[in-house]
Amino acid sequence: MRKVRNSGLGTEELKALESPSLDAFIARLPKVELHLHLEGSIRPATLRELTQNKSWLWQKVEDWVSERERDSYAYGNFQKFLAAFALVTLMLEAPEDYALVTTRLVEWLAEQNVKYAEITLSAGVILWKKQSVEAVFEAISAAASESERRLGVRVQWIFDAVRQFGADHARQVLDWAGRFRSRGVVAFGIGGDEARGPAELFTDVYRQARDLGLHVTAHAGETVGPESIRVAVELLGAERIGHGLTLLGDPSVVALVRERRIPLEVCPTSNVATGLLERFEDHPLPRFLKSGLVVTLNSDDPAMFGTSLNEEVGKAARSFALSRPQIVEIGENSIRAAFLAEDEQARLLRELHAQAGASS
Ligand SMILES: [Zn+2]
Repeated sequence: MRKVRNSGLGTEELKALESPSLDAFIARLPKVELHLHLEGSIRPATLRELTQNKSWLWQKVEDWVSERERDSYAYGNFQKFLAAFALVTLMLEAPEDYALVTTRLVEWLAEQNVKYAEITLSAGVILWKKQSVEAVFEAISAAASESERRLGVRVQWIFDAVRQFGADHARQVLDWAGRFRSRGVVAFGIGGDEARGPAELFTDVYRQARDLGLHVTAHAGETVGPESIRVAVELLGAERIGHGLTLLGDPSVVALVRERRIPLEVCPTSNVATGLLERFEDHPLPRFLKSGLVVTLNSDDPAMFGTSLNEEVGKAARSFALSRPQIVEIGENSIRAAFLAEDEQARLLRELHAQAGASS
């Protein structure tokens, strides 16, 4: 990092001098994205592309995009965000729509130098819409394979159930995840409203998921307290925790997560946009690091929150004064937390270190 000493410049001016090289450093690093919802990754241009032949939707999309831009992607509260997420998913009417947003997402990942992504598909929402999970998966799988070949981004899938729809619904999602396990579905997870779908409801479903040979993750400690994280780890066997924002509220849960080396999928802009944090700087990420926890950085629903993985890393670096070795360490954590074979992890680690060494 270029050091500027005694220059007489103010903080903002110093930032402006330092920013391009920090951003360039981050942009060049090969990256891994672990917490990324397909339906939350549809940028305005893709929404327009999706709805261009549907005049009744077009105006809704225009209103939606300008509202988001006007409100700086703030939803006010988590329920309003869930409603907005549902609205976007309704625009995905056919398997071809899902294929289009997959292609555009992989192109966006390639632009950011993301080498590997585990993309979450809200299979539960597809069931809720009474669409065919099979037809959608065939379409997105083909779109991802084509983009992978063209752009060199590797993709695997996580099937996500809507927790407030209950355990029977989750079991249906799991059945589909199990069916496509040999075709790139690596994990099963739950998301949505933690208060209305407590983790303990899903103990049996998670046991079945593990028996099927799937990895398991869970959004936990996002909108409710640390007890939800404890249950996700102890009863569900979650291998990674989505958000874990409230973790520090209970030292015994911190100890549990630390001892088991459970990676946290941290997504600070998401937590601000859904009204859980007032400012990015309020995220406990630096205290997570101090507590010896395994932190990964992710963008969650980047298009719905007006962010990207590169921006999340850049904002975190600036907000928490992360050093470049710390930025690289967070990247290493993501690679090791990925549901990939050891040799694939080792290859990504080598690429990361080679690039970090070349650009520092
Ligand atoms: Zn999420």
